[in-house]
Amino acid sequence: MSTSTYEDTAVAGAETPALMKAAVVHSFTEPLRFEEVATPVPGEGEILVRIEASGLCHTDIHAAHGDWPVKPTPPFVPGHEGVGIVEQLGAGVTQVVLGDRVAVPWLGYACGSCDHCVSGWETLCTEQRNTGYSVDGGFAEFVKASADFVVRVPDGVDPLDAAPLTCAGVTTYKAVKVSGARSSDLVAVFGIGGLGHLAVQYARIAGARVVAVDLQDDKLALARELGADFTVNAAKEDPAAVIQALGGADAAIALAVAPKAFRTAYDSLRRGGTLVFVALPAENGVEIPIFETVLNGITIVGSIVGTRTDLREVFELHAAGRTRVIREERPLAEVNEAIADVEAGRVPARVVFEL
Ligand code: NAD
Ligand code: ZN
Ligand code: ZN
Repeated sequence: MSTSTYEDTAVAGAETPALMKAAVVHSFTEPLRFEEVATPVPGEGEILVRIEASGLCHTDIHAAHGDWPVKPTPPFVPGHEGVGIVEQLGAGVTQVVLGDRVAVPWLGYACGSCDHCVSGWETLCTEQRNTGYSVDGGFAEFVKASADFVVRVPDGVDPLDAAPLTCAGVTTYKAVKVSGARSSDLVAVFGIGGLGHLAVQYARIAGARVVAVDLQDDKLALARELGADFTVNAAKEDPAAVIQALGGADAAIALAVAPKAFRTAYDSLRRGGTLVFVALPAENGVEIPIFETVLNGITIVGSIVGTRTDLREVFELHAAGRTRVIREERPLAEVNEAIADVEAGRVPARVVFEL
């Protein structure tokens, strides 16, 4: 957990406590510790946000377990769906004012001047910092953030809804965009968890017919409620056969934390179809046949979160009443129980820690 030097010019709001409660990863093989740590101090261009709501993304679980090839360095505070009120302004901050409600997403910082940043792909910036991974995140009473990379939450959007939209929302909104889904399309969504329950809705907003795939009937019932036209329980039926019988998917979005689901999603595609890789299972590989990919003109594309513009659009849609966030509020002190419940599929879409 890095601390920055105190800036004389920082503007403070209410009295900020020197210590705060946070859920901290100390080791990839131990539970998180809910403990007191120093409240971060915003440096130049940074702000301090008093967290109101913080969503638990499956990525936080991968982070806590050190699941991925590029690992975070303990101790660190996970969380990249933090939403709260601007409490302090570091030197030079003009982008937000004290009291604004902002979201602190995964893309915590990007350079702003590389080829990726200037072409609308700031999410590919090699200088990026990731909230709750390479810098401390929102599983805490306060989080320090770059003022350029927070996104204002519009009035009328409940912070408890804004939290899941900050990653699950923006990620699936972007995945549907890159899938190229159109009104005449059939879109298959694999995995109806935090991400999937929103993916179904964005695919519907794009006008597509949606087939939802999960291993649990309650998730499939939720998908129906949120607008899915068809559902398949992958534990009982072969989704590829069912979806091929529907004509094949023009796009399939892989959100299930299992390589097998990626392969099934591939097999569900219609000729010319697009498979979007989004989930990041610890087992980092899937076998895809070359011949069929070439002959069938299949596109496979990776999709990583979304830009600030994408997140603004996500909030705009929610403020307009076009999306529903399904969530369960829990205290941050129960972070380890919440992680176990997400891993066992015992939560309705998203857990949001209320602070
Ligand atoms: P989640 O645990 O809430 O949801 C996963 C869902 O997949 C669950 O409903 C589960 O029942 C279902 N599932 C598991 N195995 C399945 C299978 N074989 N077939 C069908 N469904 C299956 O997780 P989440 O928070 O929605 O995150 C999903 C994944 O996306 C994670 O790996 C996460 O790290 C990743 N992620 C990626 C990005 C990105 O930008 N690419 C952003 C956020 C999250
Ligand atoms: Zn996430
Ligand atoms: Zn850049």
